[in-house]
Amino acid sequence: MDHYRVKPGDKIDLSEWNPDDHSHYSGSKEDAESEIQSACVQLGLLQQLLAAERKHKVLVILQAMDTGGKDGVVRRVFSETNPQGVRVVSFKVPTAPEADHDYLWRVHQQTPGKGELIVFNRSHYEDVLVVRVHNLVPKNIWSKRYDHINAFEKTLADEGTLILKFYLHISKAEQRQRLLDRLEDPAKNWKFAAGDLKERELWNDYMAAYEDLLNKTSTTYAPWYLIPANHKWYRDFLISKIICSELASLDMKYPQIVEDLSTYRAQLEKESGA
Ligand code: ADP
Repeated sequence: MDHYRVKPGDKIDLSEWNPDDHSHYSGSKEDAESEIQSACVQLGLLQQLLAAERKHKVLVILQAMDTGGKDGVVRRVFSETNPQGVRVVSFKVPTAPEADHDYLWRVHQQTPGKGELIVFNRSHYEDVLVVRVHNLVPKNIWSKRYDHINAFEKTLADEGTLILKFYLHISKAEQRQRLLDRLEDPAKNWKFAAGDLKERELWNDYMAAYEDLLNKTSTTYAPWYLIPANHKWYRDFLISKIICSELASLDMKYPQIVEDLSTYRAQLEKESGA
């Protein structure tokens, strides 16, 4: 898994990262599917422990080009978690009140509290992606945001938030195929937006923006994972394993009950014998 973690100081050139890669799994796709299912179940148990212990906070950030698979990850990887302790937040074009504030304002309000696992479907990184590519603010404004974001995430991490960031890397050809599928399958038509074709024309600009983001904001306290995502099974395999392994390393414990439980047990046993 370490292979896909971007280390501070790395110089990522996305053209060298093959979106079709599945080289770090030697089994078949079917084997991987059953490993994903086990990892999802394990994640469900870890999330229960997270909620019970109420000590740590977990923030998972998903970023990708359109059709990159963010929704697929949400559906699959978190399928065994309890919705009472997990929330998915999707960041869209800022509303008027959001646009009246600094770009981190709406984001900070959605960060996890103790015991919570929050998934960001898009995030503050849009403010150095779409905003940069479309010149929605001048360069002298967006270029300062990498430092702001690192400082913001450091604050969250220092205050007990585990931050895991995933960039789902698909190829332009794969996006074309997925867009065609959306046009052809009536059950997928609703996912198609004409605007996606306009964004697709800016593919190279987006790749440059993603490269900068990966090179400037992957830190020890909030690392990026560069996930080859043309194969959905490999994407889900890596992400489910990474999240499980990171949550397991928190060494969480169920709260210790200090009371003597034997009196309650005796009381209930007496009742059943009555
Ligand atoms: P998704 O593609 O994530 O399923 P939508 O189709 O509703 O959801 O797209 C959300 C849109 O909001 C994207 O085009 C994204 O670039 C845009 N967006 C998100 N954050 C910002 C932002 N801070 N400024 C401008 N646009 C943003």
